[in-house]
Amino acid sequence: MAAELYARVILDMVSNAVDRPFQYAVPSHLAGKIEVGSRVLVPFRSRQMVAYVVALDREPLINNTRDIIDIQDPFPVLQPEFVELSHWLSRRFFSRWIESIHLCLPPAGEKAKARHVEKVLPLFPPEIMREESARLKSKAFRQALILEHLALAEEGLPWRVLKAKTGAGRQSLVPLIKRGWLKIETVPSESPLWDKPQVEGTISKKLTLTSEQEAAWREIKEGFTGRQKQFLIFGVTGSGKTELYLRAAEEALKRGRTVLFLVPEIALTPQIIEQLKTRFPDSFALLHSSLSPGERYEQWLRVKRGEARVVLGARSAVFAPLSNIGLIVMDEEHENTYKQSESPRYHTRDVARWRAAYHDAVLLMGSATPSLETFLDTRRKKAKLLTLTRRVEGHRLPDVEVVDMRREFGAGNRGIFSRSLRKAMEETLHRQEQIMLFLNRRGFAGFQLCRQCGLVLKCPSCDVSLTYHSSPEHLQCHYCGYRRAALQFCPQCKSRYLRNFGLGTQKVEREVQNIFPGVEVVRMDSDTTAVRGAYDRIWSSFKEKRASVLIGTQMIAKGFDFPGVTLVGIVAADITLHLPDFRAGERTFQLLSQAAGRSGRGAQRGRVIIQTFTPWHYSIKAAAEHSYKDFLQEELKRRKLLLYPPFSEIILINCSSLQEPKARLFAEKLKAALAESLSIVGEKETELLGPSPAPLFKIKDRFRYQLIFKGINLQQYAGIIRDVVWRFSQETGEEIRITVDFNPMMML
Ligand code: ADP
Ligand code: ZN
Ligand code: ZN
Repeated sequence: MAAELYARVILDMVSNAVDRPFQYAVPSHLAGKIEVGSRVLVPFRSRQMVAYVVALDREPLINNTRDIIDIQDPFPVLQPEFVELSHWLSRRFFSRWIESIHLCLPPAGEKAKARHVEKVLPLFPPEIMREESARLKSKAFRQALILEHLALAEEGLPWRVLKAKTGAGRQSLVPLIKRGWLKIETVPSESPLWDKPQVEGTISKKLTLTSEQEAAWREIKEGFTGRQKQFLIFGVTGSGKTELYLRAAEEALKRGRTVLFLVPEIALTPQIIEQLKTRFPDSFALLHSSLSPGERYEQWLRVKRGEARVVLGARSAVFAPLSNIGLIVMDEEHENTYKQSESPRYHTRDVARWRAAYHDAVLLMGSATPSLETFLDTRRKKAKLLTLTRRVEGHRLPDVEVVDMRREFGAGNRGIFSRSLRKAMEETLHRQEQIMLFLNRRGFAGFQLCRQCGLVLKCPSCDVSLTYHSSPEHLQCHYCGYRRAALQFCPQCKSRYLRNFGLGTQKVEREVQNIFPGVEVVRMDSDTTAVRGAYDRIWSSFKEKRASVLIGTQMIAKGFDFPGVTLVGIVAADITLHLPDFRAGERTFQLLSQAAGRSGRGAQRGRVIIQTFTPWHYSIKAAAEHSYKDFLQEELKRRKLLLYPPFSEIILINCSSLQEPKARLFAEKLKAALAESLSIVGEKETELLGPSPAPLFKIKDRFRYQLIFKGINLQQYAGIIRDVVWRFSQETGEEIRITVDFNPMMML
């Protein structure tokens, strides 16, 4: 007798060859148990494989379907929503379906259910612990750190957390136990939230909204019943966005719905976590990568079971198994961490939007420097713009001064610091206030900059800076491949002061120490924070004002929020400004605005000094004026003119090989094939640029070439592009690696 039920499944195997549903028969003993979203075991060739049910059928699609062997869990691991979502995601972001299914699965650790946790408890009051810590500092640094951290946590800390914070191993713990300073207890891990950040001045009482907040709140509230569901809260730091998120969360819960709260990075949002915990103590869950696998699974289960109704997490939390979502919050929606850089290369915003639509939920995005994509959405009426113009507590935005480094150069100052920044540093140190010096991440590929007039050559057709290559010496556009001789003399001012521009944090540190001997300086970059626990150490020495100057790359120092800082110096704004990326202007504006926000958080009015060779650049001028509007106007004009996102879509195809000519030739062949396939469907509006060497030309011994598609609506050709790319990758095998990135955030 033929089976009456069939299931289409996706095999749990990452391979192009099986990237489609296979049909199996549901045997009678499993009938009624298998649903869409079930994890099953199926025969495949001569093996057994795990697979996920994506559809049920009444009819066989092929002859001789084989039987499903078994079902793996008591409930479907994927909610039906995720079957749809993963399919959509894999098409949009050029991944295999199974790869996007993996995003939606419960965290590993199901088996490892760690129900117990080792907790380290201090045995003396904080003051005494601190004294001992000070005594040990020079002899046993790790032991000292352990005591220091326990002095801050009277109720103790899980060993795992303590270990991460201090970088200490078991061998540092043992002597302290022996000498009776602390003890270890094994306790049930009923709550993984011990690792709570210390936050001062958390507000849990309900505030009276300001008139601006009130106006925004009326709109948001209407969103729960009305048709306008997407909102962008555009408000400077401190304007009270978080308060609106919290109100909205309360509203959603009141309506019996759940809340998904997305942040760019957990570590940077202690205040929000604290507030959510205080307001929603029983229904809050934190999805955090630092939880142990067992704890992570526990949290996942709480969400899945509907016990946790307010979920906070970074990028991957957008796949939290919530049902009946009423609100999705996306704080700092412009941040790059929302885009995943490995396959599936999804953008959290797109997924959030998809889920919000699926659940008919309110989507609340917030930023002080919104992405152009989201801002354009408000113009196109997809999202509603809500503006908060004033800081709640009345702190004024800092004064920003732009220093023209060409003048400094002209005046014979060849140092890193302008006279103005140097003087400001002197004054700040004299007043015993603190200084942050930011160096935007070092340019990986250099560019030639004229120190006399500030000129940096751009590609005539792509409007991105040309990258300098030394052997053989030339300049090249990494979008279209345009190439020209390197400059000997500046074509604008005829000077010969052309320099391959780049500057490291170490050099800045040395300079500060030279000028201000005896001043305590800490440096925070990928070198100094490589050691575990180093981040916290640097953080606390600055927090406790043992250090007066912090030098850092902006990426790392992002969450720093210290009232003692009254001077922020941007040492070389040009570095981000001349990244070979069409978003360089946007990124510079965001970084400068963010850095400006670091100054004057306390009662003192802050000051910001931006050093640049291109003081006339709109990103710098707008940041100095605190004017997003100015920046936006100019940037939108440019993007439109050159048809860059958000006015177009981009697909970036990267081909890499251990042998440089192979990568290049392959990219050329691929381009020809893509061009042909698209011409068959009569596509003329799409531009296909390259192949050109990627700005990061060589990574891990592989040479990288890239092709760039640009078009108004590339998604409609995704299928064709996918077919060609995958046909090619099948032919070449491992020799060439191909990645496809839809709407990349970085074009490197
Ligand atoms: P943002 O999220 O925009 O950076 P926050 O929501 O964190 O700003 O608000 C900044 C500060 O102002 C916080 O300390 C917050 O508690 C406080 N705050 C927000 N709204 C109000 C209000 N209506 N009345 C008084 N204080 C407020
Ligand atoms: Zn010049
Ligand atoms: Zn170009």
